[in-house]
Amino acid sequence: MTKADVQNDMFVKDEKYVWHSMKPYKPENTMIAKSAKGSWITDVQGNRFLDAMSGLWCVNIGYGREELAEAAYNQMKELSYMPMTESHEPAVNLAEKINDMLGGDYVVFFSNSGSEANEMAFKMTRQYHQQKGDHYRSKFISRYRAYHGNSTSSLSATGQAQRKYKYEPLGSGFLHVAPPDEYRNQHSEADRWGAEDIDKVMTWEYNETIAGVIMEPIITGGGVIVPPENYMKEVKSICEKHGALMIVDEVICGFGRTGQPFGFMNYGVQPDIVTMAKGITSAYLPLSATAVKREIYEAFCGEETYDFFRHINTFGGSPASCAVALKNIEIMEKEQLFQRSSQLGDLVKNELHTRLQGHKYVGDVRGKGLLIGIELVSDKETKEPLAVEKVNAVIHRCKEKGIIIGKNGMTVAGYNNILTLAPPLSIEEEDVTFLIHTLVEAIYTL
Ligand code: PMP
Repeated sequence: MTKADVQNDMFVKDEKYVWHSMKPYKPENTMIAKSAKGSWITDVQGNRFLDAMSGLWCVNIGYGREELAEAAYNQMKELSYMPMTESHEPAVNLAEKINDMLGGDYVVFFSNSGSEANEMAFKMTRQYHQQKGDHYRSKFISRYRAYHGNSTSSLSATGQAQRKYKYEPLGSGFLHVAPPDEYRNQHSEADRWGAEDIDKVMTWEYNETIAGVIMEPIITGGGVIVPPENYMKEVKSICEKHGALMIVDEVICGFGRTGQPFGFMNYGVQPDIVTMAKGITSAYLPLSATAVKREIYEAFCGEETYDFFRHINTFGGSPASCAVALKNIEIMEKEQLFQRSSQLGDLVKNELHTRLQGHKYVGDVRGKGLLIGIELVSDKETKEPLAVEKVNAVIHRCKEKGIIIGKNGMTVAGYNNILTLAPPLSIEEEDVTFLIHTLVEAIYTL
């Protein structure tokens, strides 16, 4: 077999045996990756792509770092497994490190994915209220357009109907309010940029039935919706007023994506519970964590038989994943990647804004750190979302030129018109220039 035959064979077998996420198989829109280094992926045919989405917004320190492979290798040789009913050194050190980074007093529970971290946050919150004798607090409030995961409760909290309607009924007790979308002027200072809705829903539902609110600092998957400066503070004070916990989903925003260690740090709040995944290991190994304030944790430390958190998972907090996370964070700090995300993010945003604001289809360029959204509209006055074929044409053009970018929105509501960028925080400056140049050119071909 020639090299080309081997490659073709790979596509034939891929089509035959692999069920892909999110799209039907088509050879022309499927990449079979071979290797990756820094911000660049090479596929089995030898094509190279600048990954301006860091995979699924997760490869924060870039691909192919040998130190992470070594950390996993060494840890697997030393101690390959230990359930977290017991403990081990990498888990202890990582929990301490996360606590330091969060800037509060937190206790950390490990699991495997962002969905699971959120699932745990819901269970912990409900049980916490039970332990405190607050027996009716079971409901959660989240925002439309947010994504919180694929498992039953995390999907119930998700505010994107297109991901849910074929699997309903999902979990009960999940309520939604509109997000603070400044571009579409849905809210103003008068209604505290939409936080008022949360206040009202808590009252109308009877506040003693509300367990918590879950939110990302910036809604990522729903189209990079950056809240007004005071929004999170307002939500926090509403939670406090009504006795609900604030759960902040840092699955994407955490670990430098928004230019701060965690996204909530941009907004002057200290959450009750923080969930994290993706960037915690830069996706070198699966790991997630749910960090809860110590006073919440203490409600689970009573003497009664069922006071403890009755939740167990086999792989969560695996020694190698924790060792990789520690090395990953060490590299982020050594290379000052959070600051880099902030500086490069400003540069990309400003440059795109300057070069694209005159374009008839570019309604908004927004973001924080290396998390950027470009909202495309067919009419700047009405803000009618641009047809998805045109949005796809930009993505396709970038791919032809060797760059992977994303798109997001809310298909059922017609919003699938927001291009997204989330490159590795370690992206080289010349790659930033290439990205800006290529993207601007692709949009100008519309
Ligand atoms: N929360 C947010 C904000 C996410 O973006 C995601 C995944 N994209 C999740 C939770 C779920 O994470 P996972 O895919 O690791 O389950």
